[in-house]
Amino acid sequence: MNHYDYLIVGSGLFGATFAYRAKQVGKQCLIIDKRPHLGGNIYCEKIEGINVHKYGAHIFHTSNKIIWDFVNSIVEFNRYTNSPIANYKGKLYNLPFNMNTFHQMWGVRTPEEAKAKIEEQRQEAIKALNGKEPQNLEEQAITLVGKDIFEILIKEYTEKQWGRKCMELPAFIIKRLPVRMVFDNNYFNDKYQGIPIGGYNKLIEGLLEGIESKTCTDFFSSEYKNWQKYADKLVYTGAIDEYFGYSLGKLDWRTVSFKTRIEDIPNYQGNAVVNYTSHDKPFTRVIEHKHFEIFGQEIYDFPKSVVSEEYSTEYTDGMDPYYPVNDERNNKLAAQYRQLAEKEKNVIFGGRLGQYKYYDMAPIIEQVLNFKNI
Ligand code: FAD
Ligand code: UDP
Repeated sequence: MNHYDYLIVGSGLFGATFAYRAKQVGKQCLIIDKRPHLGGNIYCEKIEGINVHKYGAHIFHTSNKIIWDFVNSIVEFNRYTNSPIANYKGKLYNLPFNMNTFHQMWGVRTPEEAKAKIEEQRQEAIKALNGKEPQNLEEQAITLVGKDIFEILIKEYTEKQWGRKCMELPAFIIKRLPVRMVFDNNYFNDKYQGIPIGGYNKLIEGLLEGIESKTCTDFFSSEYKNWQKYADKLVYTGAIDEYFGYSLGKLDWRTVSFKTRIEDIPNYQGNAVVNYTSHDKPFTRVIEHKHFEIFGQEIYDFPKSVVSEEYSTEYTDGMDPYYPVNDERNNKLAAQYRQLAEKEKNVIFGGRLGQYKYYDMAPIIEQVLNFKNI
């Protein structure tokens, strides 16, 4: 029986990057995952020759050149730029809020005209509050960007996403709502963004090349639960509360469910991401996966297209945990679990589930690259 330096539980970006770094310094790893595939949430499934983001659309973005160079050393990234479209009752608007959006909304043509329109609506909202501080998300948003942007692009989308009225959501959720006074539909402000050429599985395959792995292997119900028999150290990227047998209580999650279908048409919506910002559609977004990786005329080389509707869903046992819930009960409980985790000898708790924190992909990689002694 092999004895490893590390047993890594979870083959998502945290586990896979850790294994890669460990291999670089001559350490032996075994990586296990309970799912039937490697890659965690960035895993893609090929349907009709198209990479389908099975666990939700993933767009890599960072301003950190070290991280960008690192991922590009594993697989080259393409030129995908995220520029979602909002569909409000059939009318289309560019996102994020920029001069294109303001022109579509009000017919304004210059930044001065747009600023004046927003300022007029902001002042109306501030006046209506009568000197009161904004008490909820609705009041907060209207005082930041005015009634039109709020009602057409924020209100119902946010209500669908959180399953609660904007009047019942706390104001602190949105401190800022950036408006751009230029014609720029690039959603991210980061210097670098893109999708791996050939898909995210290439990134995972590159990171895990030459590393022993086992899928369909749950840490808790396999022999690896007694990990000390197999390895000197454990890297655990599963749920932190599960590791401790939920001894302090269960942490809550928010999740998304996907309805994926094949459309018998090469170009269904002309964009990777379309947000449905009104209640007349029950889903929040429709993703057309081919637009992440296939551009221009090549779109028509594939006769079909794969689209996924996204529904914001309450989490119950057995679902995929996606987003930590950022409220008092869960923050407190997670802090208590993290204290327990600190006392575990030779165990590193990593990633989204292991730390109960939302991280984009780039910060996950950054954390691993920052480990001093692997
Ligand atoms: P995961 O990818 O979740 O990997 C954890 C792995 O551990 C899983 O494979 C799981 O099966 C395994 N595991 C858990 N428990 C056990 C067990 N008991 N035994 C064995 N294996 C176990 N980031 C961006 O930068 N851009 C985006 O556009 C973006 N979009 C996102 C959209 C959604 C819907 C979500 C949820 C996240 C998004 N992210 C995005 C964040 C990104 O998914 C995370 O940064 C990344 O997946 C974190 O990697 P991880 O290894 O921590 O977790
Ligand atoms: N949002 C919105 N309208 C949109 C897109 C986003 O009002 O068309 C708000 C909404 O409150 C959402 C937040 O912005 O919760 C963050 O959305 P984003 O898509 O940037 O992040 P994600 O949902 O992927 O975390």
